[in-house]
Amino acid sequence: MAASIPHLDECLSPHWEMRQQDHVKLVWHEPFEGVRRVRALAWTCDCRAVVYELLQSGGQAFIRKTTQTEPTPKVEETHRWSIEEARRAWHALLLGEMR
Ligand SMILES: [Zn+2]
Repeated sequence: MAASIPHLDECLSPHWEMRQQDHVKLVWHEPFEGVRRVRALAWTCDCRAVVYELLQSGGQAFIRKTTQTEPTPKVEETHRWSIEEARRAWHALLLGEMR
């Protein structure tokens, strides 16, 4: 494949942008609900060491951050928001406005 178009075949999911200097800092904490039924609404490409997922649980949503470290990935989550708020945070995160 043409070297000038990297990842064209491998990457189907969006990539997050580098965080902006004045980005809003999200509070990340350990998952407190354990493994519960959640629905993935969106996710970033796993070609990066850090993968973000927008997850819905009941009427709320949150973002999960997975850092692909060996031997066990590090998993952190945001607070729960309304789904609309979570979608706004998700887009800000992708653009590097929040992280
Ligand atoms: Zn990728």
